[in-house]
Amino acid sequence: MEVKLSDLKDLVRTIPDYPKPGIMFRDVTTLFGDAQGFKAAIARMADPFLMQPVDAVAGIEARGFILGGAIADRLGCGFIPIRKKGKLPWKTIGQEYTLEYGVDIIEIHEDAIKDGERILIVDDLIATGGTAEAAVKIIKRTGGQIVGAAFVIDLPELGGSQLLIQQGVECHSVMAFDGH
Ligand code: AMP
Repeated sequence: MEVKLSDLKDLVRTIPDYPKPGIMFRDVTTLFGDAQGFKAAIARMADPFLMQPVDAVAGIEARGFILGGAIADRLGCGFIPIRKKGKLPWKTIGQEYTLEYGVDIIEIHEDAIKDGERILIVDDLIATGGTAEAAVKIIKRTGGQIVGAAFVIDLPELGGSQLLIQQGVECHSVMAFDGH
C-alpha cells in the first residue's frame, strides 16, 4: 500500500532551535527508523531516475550514505562516498564550500569516477545548496556527468534547489518544509 506524503512528513521529527537558535532541525532518523516510511522515501527518490542510465549514486556524508546505498541498490548501480576532509583512505580531490561561518571541504577519491560516467547526487536535505553545489563541482572535476540530485527534504525558502536548477541540474525532493 502506498504511504501518503503527509504520513512521510509526519515521520520527520522537527527539533526547534537545534543546533542553534532559529534553526528548525529536520531529523530524518525517525523516518529512517520506520520500515514503511524508509522504503517509501527511497522509492520516491529513485523513481524519477529509473528510466535514465545512472552509473553511480554519489552520497554526501553522512545521511546521504544511508539513502544513497539503498537508492543505488534500487537503480542497480554503484555507490560513491563524498566525505568530509581527511576521511577517505586513497588519493583524493577536495572542494571547498562556504558555510554560514567559515568554510568546509568535501573530498572524493580521485579515481572514483571514470570519464563521462553518469552520477546521481543524494543527500537528506537541501537548504542553501552550498553542499550540493560543491558535490556538483567535485563530480565534474573528476570527469563525471550529473544526472540529477535527489533529497528527502527541500527548504525552498533557502534557495538551494533553485540554485541547482539554474545550473541545469535536475533536482527532486520527496517533501518541502517552510522556513529554515
Ligand atoms: P546546505 O549546504 O545549506 O544546502 O545544507 C545542507 C546540509 O546541511 C545537509 O547535509 C543537511 O543534512 C544539513 N542541514 C541544513 N539545514 C538543516 C536543517 N534545517 N535540518 C537538518 N539538516 C540540515
